[in-house]
Amino acid sequence: MKITFRVLVILLCLGIAAQAADQLIALKAARMFDGKSNALVQNAVVIVRGDKIVDAGSNLPVPSGAQVIDLGDATLAPGFMDAHTHLTADFSGNYNERRLQQLDLNVSEQAIRATAFARATVEAGFTTVRDLGSRFIASHEFVDVALRNSINRGVIVGPRMLVATKGIGATGGHFDPSGGFRDFLFGREPDYTDGIANGPDEIRKAVRFEVKNGADVIKAAVSGGVLSLGDEVDTPQLTPAEMTALVDESHRLRKKVAVHCHGDQAAREAIEAGVDSIEHGSFMKPETLTMMKKKGTFLTPTLMASEWIMGKLDNYPPALQAKAKAATAARSEMFRNAIKMGIKISFGTDAAVFPHGQNAKEFKLMVDLGMSAIDALKSATGNDAELLGIGQKVGTLEKGKLADIIAMPGDPTSDITATERVSFVMKEGKIIGQGPRTPQGTVEWTRSPDVAAPVD
Ligand SMILES: [Zn+2]
Repeated sequence: MKITFRVLVILLCLGIAAQAADQLIALKAARMFDGKSNALVQNAVVIVRGDKIVDAGSNLPVPSGAQVIDLGDATLAPGFMDAHTHLTADFSGNYNERRLQQLDLNVSEQAIRATAFARATVEAGFTTVRDLGSRFIASHEFVDVALRNSINRGVIVGPRMLVATKGIGATGGHFDPSGGFRDFLFGREPDYTDGIANGPDEIRKAVRFEVKNGADVIKAAVSGGVLSLGDEVDTPQLTPAEMTALVDESHRLRKKVAVHCHGDQAAREAIEAGVDSIEHGSFMKPETLTMMKKKGTFLTPTLMASEWIMGKLDNYPPALQAKAKAATAARSEMFRNAIKMGIKISFGTDAAVFPHGQNAKEFKLMVDLGMSAIDALKSATGNDAELLGIGQKVGTLEKGKLADIIAMPGDPTSDITATERVSFVMKEGKIIGQGPRTPQGTVEWTRSPDVAAPVD
């Protein structure tokens, strides 16, 4: 069935108007990726009641009274997930201008900007993100927690967020907010309240402080990074004893641990300590990948981050350019090896390094490096749901799951860039936006109202 833009607008209005708890909607499309199978389902129908999926399959009968939304030659899929975002920041412009802006803008203004980043992310089809670090220099505000809570309460529109608050790292390491600035410019040395901790006991204190303030997941920097001025990209920054304390304390509090890590030595020590995912992993050797395979550690490759930086190298100081080149040169072979060895791959992009809403470009980078399209789709749905520990609720199109459902034109297994043109987004049964996407952006996209009705 061919749907005109006008029909889409009417359907969208109907969808938004009718959000009663027992609202029945039947979504139809030429095909469906269910989040776990190796083949697409043809003539797909997904039945949604309220915020849940009541059935999903091929040629299902439409229950009487259901509103039918026929998306035509499109593929339905579970809402995508991005296991590595920074929704409260935008690092994509000129590095030095951004560094100055970080000092100029007050944190409230940065928080308001973050609401637009959240909207752009969910409209791109990413209904869940794991947000791995939100820090504001010389401020203790927990903007990621505020953003998550405001989305959960329906005050603003955005993806479901699992947040890490500040992240944890060593003095002078990748996460040290005063790194690269003159000593004591901000009046004091950062401490555990800024996520900066040294020694196992202080690491435990930092974990407890972050959980106390709303962290869903613990993030730590165990090796140097690309976009930090004061460190080398591959040096280890936490000791094995500190990593053991980090993982033990986090897991005792039932929080998963994601570690920023480019270097091979730091990766080996982190995997040994029992972290749940290695973020980036650029310099990991095959022996290190073998350890990951044995332990079941996830790899979040964040290919988009280095791709963006390499495309805009002039935006970064020479020292960072050199780090970006070294990490990018290493990561392609590392990723190819990881695929061959069957490492669990979680989809994550490092959004903020590039503009929010372009997350789906990661899919093509993964496929270009040898991943099958269906495995790339699984990484952003079923795999991420497993890593995030929310597989009971989301990640697949199955009876009983929350109705996080997207559609993209055509067949993403024959053209993976279809993921970049998501044409329908539903989160927990509510339609977020709908319409054809153009390479220029969202010209004919129709969105739900900016402010939904708060639930409290
Ligand atoms: Zn990151």
